[in-house]
Amino acid sequence: LQFLKELPKVELHAHLNGSLGIGSLRDLAERLHGSASEEFSQLCQRFIRFDRDSDLDACFEKFAFVHELTSTAEGLRYATELAIRDFARDNVQYLELRTTPKANGNYSRREYLQHVLEAIGEARKIYPNILVKLLPSINRAEPVAVAEETVSLALEFAQSHPDLILGIDLSGNPGKGRFSDFAPILSLARDQGLKLVLHCAEIENPVEVKEMLNFGMSRCGHGTFLTPEDIAQLKSRNTAIECCLTSNIKSGTVPSLEEHHLKRLMEADAPKVICTDDSGVFDTTLTQEFLLAKETFGLTRDQCVALTLEAVQHSFASVEEKQVMAAKVKKYVDSWQ
Ligand code: 5GP
Repeated sequence: LQFLKELPKVELHAHLNGSLGIGSLRDLAERLHGSASEEFSQLCQRFIRFDRDSDLDACFEKFAFVHELTSTAEGLRYATELAIRDFARDNVQYLELRTTPKANGNYSRREYLQHVLEAIGEARKIYPNILVKLLPSINRAEPVAVAEETVSLALEFAQSHPDLILGIDLSGNPGKGRFSDFAPILSLARDQGLKLVLHCAEIENPVEVKEMLNFGMSRCGHGTFLTPEDIAQLKSRNTAIECCLTSNIKSGTVPSLEEHHLKRLMEADAPKVICTDDSGVFDTTLTQEFLLAKETFGLTRDQCVALTLEAVQHSFASVEEKQVMAAKVKKYVDSWQ
């Protein structure tokens, strides 16, 4: 455990509003309302219920709850800092954070992204050991017009923050919306140089999975229902599959750890990375995910290191940044010899 805890890890699939654990939600509620307030005690009551295991739909209700706490500029900025703090505490050296720009009475989608970008900049000073990148998300349950605005903002901010905004994520409730409706705007984003990470085969939907695989992506989110042929296709393109064990179990898309598709991906020697998805909502850490993979599938220490180096290679970091990350891993491993 100690080895995995201190290993300088790489997190490639983490949703901002899903990455706030109970402790961070409390800190956030305290910052926003003060610990003596009625609002604070009511929120704490709701946190208790928050911890129950559930299905995919119930998970989306949990997100709605967190979104209430991040619906102001102050809440959103502090939440960004707290999410980064928690990954830094878990010795994550590199984090690709995704988030869906939202608009409400307190901020526009443009301001949402500005707040998150500024909060990442601030967090850099407090947590210098973690390098954070941002992937704006498209929520497939929302209209295509919103996706178009998100891509347009991502392209604009990628100009002013070329080292921070690297790609676009397609997520949201997989039972809603149609991939084909979003394909044109995703294609435009890719043509303009943004990488694409698509939640794909998260539920059983073979027609859509084929569409997505033919469209192509830089990394595949979840990939739970991929067939052996799909896996071979991704492998032939060196497209990594982001495996989120606890998330898949708690949201009910995989029946047990033993049946998790990580096993099939390892057997097929397909590119894969271990990720948390929503460390807060699913009450996990990247260390814990490695531990589960180790205990369930008997991964050796060398295999855990190899998976971390695989994540370095499949990240969207620059060549120089990847070299620095890999060197940190190597130095750490050497210190244990
Ligand atoms: P946010 O984008 O608000 O920072 O992070 C939470 C959002 O990410 C959720 O409302 C949802 O749209 C998306 N999300 C988080 N986890 C998952 C997941 O496991 N599957 C899918 N499809 N979307 C997710």
